[in-house]
Amino acid sequence: MSAIHLQGLSKKFGDFTALKTMDLDIADGEFMALLGPSGCGKTTTMNMIAGMEEPTQGRILFGECDMAQVPMGRRGVGFVFQNYAIFTHMTVRQNLAYGPRMHGASRPEIDRRVGAIAELLQLTPLLDRKAERLSVNILQRVAIGRSAILEPAIFLLDEPLSNVDAAFRAVMRTELKHLQRQFRQTMVYVTHDQLEAMTMADRITVMDHGVLQQVGSPIEVYNNPANVFVARFIGSPGMNLLPGRPAESDRGMVIDLGPVGLTPLLPAKLAQRLRGHGGDVLFGFRPEQATIAHEGRGMKAPVTFVERIGARIIVHLGQSESAMKVVLDNDARVSLGASAIITPHMESARLFDRASGAAIGQGA
Ligand code: ATP
Repeated sequence: MSAIHLQGLSKKFGDFTALKTMDLDIADGEFMALLGPSGCGKTTTMNMIAGMEEPTQGRILFGECDMAQVPMGRRGVGFVFQNYAIFTHMTVRQNLAYGPRMHGASRPEIDRRVGAIAELLQLTPLLDRKAERLSVNILQRVAIGRSAILEPAIFLLDEPLSNVDAAFRAVMRTELKHLQRQFRQTMVYVTHDQLEAMTMADRITVMDHGVLQQVGSPIEVYNNPANVFVARFIGSPGMNLLPGRPAESDRGMVIDLGPVGLTPLLPAKLAQRLRGHGGDVLFGFRPEQATIAHEGRGMKAPVTFVERIGARIIVHLGQSESAMKVVLDNDARVSLGASAIITPHMESARLFDRASGAAIGQGA
């Protein structure tokens, strides 16, 4: 019953299309992230699932049940929004108890549920505090508790962590995942933060400009992005994409990257698929899947900047279209301005059609 099926779903606001025909199946008990930049249609999609917006076209089914005539209050979904919606004049306990009380739960049942959810969300010591005296971080935790306590079969969260501080966000990522594992709800989680989606979701739906770009597990969208949008959006930094043309070397196929030089040999499977392609391509490799040397043959570019991010460094190389980044351990020896030889790990390198941006030979 708590699987969600979106069939040919679209939404227009006047002439503006916020969501273009979307087909998506979310399994019962699945943690699905809707991921994309601001304005890509995530919230609109979520609002239609919740029953807050009517689709312009298409159907929403919960299990076998068409939701077209089912009002928001009867869909059995729980929500958490970016701005915590809690009663500040009440205590944490009263806030948590509010939903079960409204649903007519008995006193012992309410106490049991409040105790359990407070324990899970580490709110037990704060149960008798007035909400108005709590930090934003804790308020959002209470808001999550207030929805979760009703054990909805479907739980919708819209950027719930965007207002909390970075350290707390990291803690909450783990807790939310834990919460979902415990209750096995179907969870739809809207975020523009790829790290949140990657760390929590079973699968990610990547969206851009109202169009679904790819659906897959975090590792699938990371390893095999369907197109250059996903390649850039997933990963931090995103995938390097260098313009080039296929070329035959004496030992096999390579990509000629112009000023950067030639790539190492393409793996046989990728080379085979590329033979049927012919045109201009983008050569993609992840910044963390390459090494740098100061001498030797191969792809060459000057080091333009070194960003230190604690345990790792992000080395910026080359310029304009041929700019790329390589992530290395912080003890790597890199000199600003020096010419570096970059060796991508070719088994995980990817190719994209330069005109359409679509992946070539995905899964190779
Ligand atoms: P954000 O994280 O910024 O909310 P989003 O991906 O959730 O981004 P939506 O809120 O779904 O994006 O909005 C998608 C597009 O639809 C945006 O361009 C937005 O301005 C537009 N939009 C949303 N609601 C309305 C509305 N009621 N009337 C007109 N346009 C709207």
